[in-house]
Amino acid sequence: MTEHRQLYDKVFSLIEQHDSWMSKTINLIASENVSSPAVRSAIVCDFRDRYAEGWPGERVYAGCKYIDEVELICIDLAKKLFRAEFADVRPVSGVVANLMMYTAMMEPLDRMMALSIAHGGHISHARKSLGGTAGAVRGHKVRNWVFDEKEFNIDVDASIKEIRRLQEKGQEIRFLLFGGSVFPFPHPVKEFREIADEFGMHIGYDSAHVSGLIAAGRFQDPLREGADIMTASTHKTLPGPQHGIVLSKAEFADAVKVAAFPGLLSNHHLHNVAGLAVALAEMIEFGKEYADQVIRNAKALAQALHERGWNVVAEHKGFTESHVVLVDVSETPMKDGRTVEEHLERANIIINRNLLPWDKKMGRDYRRPGGIRLGSSEMTRLGMKESEMDAIVEFMHRVVMKGEDVDRVAADVAEFRKDFQKVHFAFDTETPAYAHLRFR
Ligand SMILES: *Cc1c(COP(=O)(O)O)cnc(C)c1O
Repeated sequence: MTEHRQLYDKVFSLIEQHDSWMSKTINLIASENVSSPAVRSAIVCDFRDRYAEGWPGERVYAGCKYIDEVELICIDLAKKLFRAEFADVRPVSGVVANLMMYTAMMEPLDRMMALSIAHGGHISHARKSLGGTAGAVRGHKVRNWVFDEKEFNIDVDASIKEIRRLQEKGQEIRFLLFGGSVFPFPHPVKEFREIADEFGMHIGYDSAHVSGLIAAGRFQDPLREGADIMTASTHKTLPGPQHGIVLSKAEFADAVKVAAFPGLLSNHHLHNVAGLAVALAEMIEFGKEYADQVIRNAKALAQALHERGWNVVAEHKGFTESHVVLVDVSETPMKDGRTVEEHLERANIIINRNLLPWDKKMGRDYRRPGGIRLGSSEMTRLGMKESEMDAIVEFMHRVVMKGEDVDRVAADVAEFRKDFQKVHFAFDTETPAYAHLRFR
């Protein structure tokens, strides 16, 4: 056998090992989910090999008559689900959706407000000195929201004061961006509509993490609260393929469209547009039930950790109103998020280490931060409820607090997972959750 044939076989073998491992693990990565069998089936269609470019009906390429119909269905479903006047389903990811938003709403170098990374902001919102997309790619000057660490949210009064102070200094702000990657509580959007109008600023909202909850009418409703434009990833709480979306008021439609093409995209991953259409249809059908259970499960995860003596952030606010739970592990026997992450992975429990707002003060950084971030979406999709969240926390407790042998816990986790092998909240609930088509 040739060396390359061996590597070819090796790739398939690794895929199989990964799939098999996923079916035995507890995945609490807040930015991940498991897509439905229908979504998986759609994204392997021939669209994956085609080009379209441009808007349906005005394509640069021939051969798009069915692709166009699918994209129009996807747009209609998105507008309905998010009650948006305009939807563009072309961005290939959340970061590209954000670039489309920046391009449509600001001139290069314009100044914007966004959440800092330590407070849960995303690198695509960050300034140039951090290599952030807004600063490094578009030249935007980024000022950070004033953050109330206790309330774990944007401090409205202090932030309005800061905007006024900057305006007076001649440092004009053009764009207010809400949303982030550690996002347990709704952001105060409507509180900023008045000052935005006073100074002619636009409001954007990055719903990457919470778009599935927003679609279901839970968490908050940014487009009704004063946001002009909203972006999302379509694979976090929204359980679609890896892709992005931009939703906006009708008046910004043309600017968003040219930002997509010819601005940022040539190929826009047409197979994922098909997968997204299927995911949106399933969300309209099952989304409310799903989102309610996601939020109940996140609260149950937090409560179970709290009862076992873990330091869960924002206890006085009920820990979370979304899918996400932030935990300070700096006082546990393992002392930092990285050590916790590594041990739990060996016990078949997959979580993220995460920076805490107070890490910098304590001399910690993102490499070995004091926190971990947990999300309830994927396990909820597999049919787990509050009692299973308690069982999950007990597995975590055995590893982190009791120092039990990780191999023993890993075996118990695999056994526990045997009863949760199908995707719920979908039209097909019989195909195994981690199965995919094999043509080889
Ligand atoms: C995940 C995330 C993104 C990036 O999304 P991708 O689809 O991975 O490009 C953007 N913004 C926020 C707030 C995120 O959490």
